Amino acid sequence: MKILIINAGSSSLKYQFMESDGGEVFARGLCERIGIDGRLTHKVPGREDVKQDIPMPTHGEAIQAVLDIMVDPEKGVIRSTDEIAAVGHRVLHGGMAFTESCIIDEKCIEAIRKCIPLGPLHNPANLMGIEACQKIMPTTPQVAVFDTAFHMTMPPRAYIYAIPYEYYEKDDVRRYGFHGTSHRYVSARAIDMLGNPEHSRVICCHLGNGSSLSAVVDGKCVDTTMGLGPLAGFPMGTRSGDVDATILEYLMGRYGYDIKEMLNILNKKSGVLGISGVSSDFRDLDEAAANGNERAQLALDKFAYEVRKFIGAYASAMGGVDAIVFTAGVGENSTDMREHICQGLEYMGVKMDAEKNRVRGREVDVSAPDSRVRIFIIPTNEELMIAMDTAALCR
Ligand code: AMP
Repeated sequence: MKILIINAGSSSLKYQFMESDGGEVFARGLCERIGIDGRLTHKVPGREDVKQDIPMPTHGEAIQAVLDIMVDPEKGVIRSTDEIAAVGHRVLHGGMAFTESCIIDEKCIEAIRKCIPLGPLHNPANLMGIEACQKIMPTTPQVAVFDTAFHMTMPPRAYIYAIPYEYYEKDDVRRYGFHGTSHRYVSARAIDMLGNPEHSRVICCHLGNGSSLSAVVDGKCVDTTMGLGPLAGFPMGTRSGDVDATILEYLMGRYGYDIKEMLNILNKKSGVLGISGVSSDFRDLDEAAANGNERAQLALDKFAYEVRKFIGAYASAMGGVDAIVFTAGVGENSTDMREHICQGLEYMGVKMDAEKNRVRGREVDVSAPDSRVRIFIIPTNEELMIAMDTAALCR
């Protein structure tokens, strides 16, 4: 089935038009500066990219611009929007209401709306994307695919926070986890590559600008590093990961920050950017560290150290590990970071083949022949997962 995938942010909207069987991508692109002025970038494999300034006061005009260019006789890829069999929407937070993807109807929209307090930055934008598509394509089925859904199989001991239980009961405070569509895709591929679907213990390392790990037993998530929101876990590009809450009180007292300013520091100015003072991009950090910048080196060391600690923790949580998967921007591309993380894990049977590890963005096993744990690089494909879920629900 030909599926249009929409990932709507507050002032931007990414789209991809693809075949759910096999994953061929016909077109992809980005609407930017929605609500300001509006710019469309449209890419078709084998053709030159198209860039257009188009007024986009709301997400409605952005979706209309996407449909217009898709059916354009020269720049487009279809004759009529009837060729779009269904639309799959990426939605950040499904709260406790969504354990899997679902067809969008009034009830679903209401449930997504109820999750806004849990995902205040993303869910309203996701809803704007959904509502714009419903208005412009009222007869085309729409599906919501949630970043949190894959993690809903975690047992209570993994998702409960050690704060008064009433906050869980009354206010839904618990670990949810994110990047679920990526963790679901790469863990399923890893299980295929292991060839033992009956019993498998996989640790997925989604290492990008935002990063998270998941522990997956027999295809089901049993733990993940992100929490109620995506700030938790280990240091990321600009996010701090887990911090002692005392630091908030201390710095807010010392500098007079309010909670918004404090969270802005933890979300936007921390992580490897905060430690290094150089960049949130691992390529810049590699270069700076190679030129002798000690704080850039410290940021890289801290990142690798924290990921390695969580790998150890998740191996213990699962009673062992059969495969470690590296995915997303850093995980797929950084030979050095993968090697750095695996250094010191030999005690648990993790042995990397340094030669095989000199690879970028390909699905490949980089473990040494005598490694008890397989080490896979698996390029993530969240769009394909969204397309497959959408097609399955709309058939
Ligand atoms: P993502 O959020 O998955 O798109 O990942 C983006 C991040 O991947 C960038 O910020 C870079 O830090 C990182 N990245 C991409 N290519 C490389 C590379 N060749 N070496 C190291 N890091 C990379």
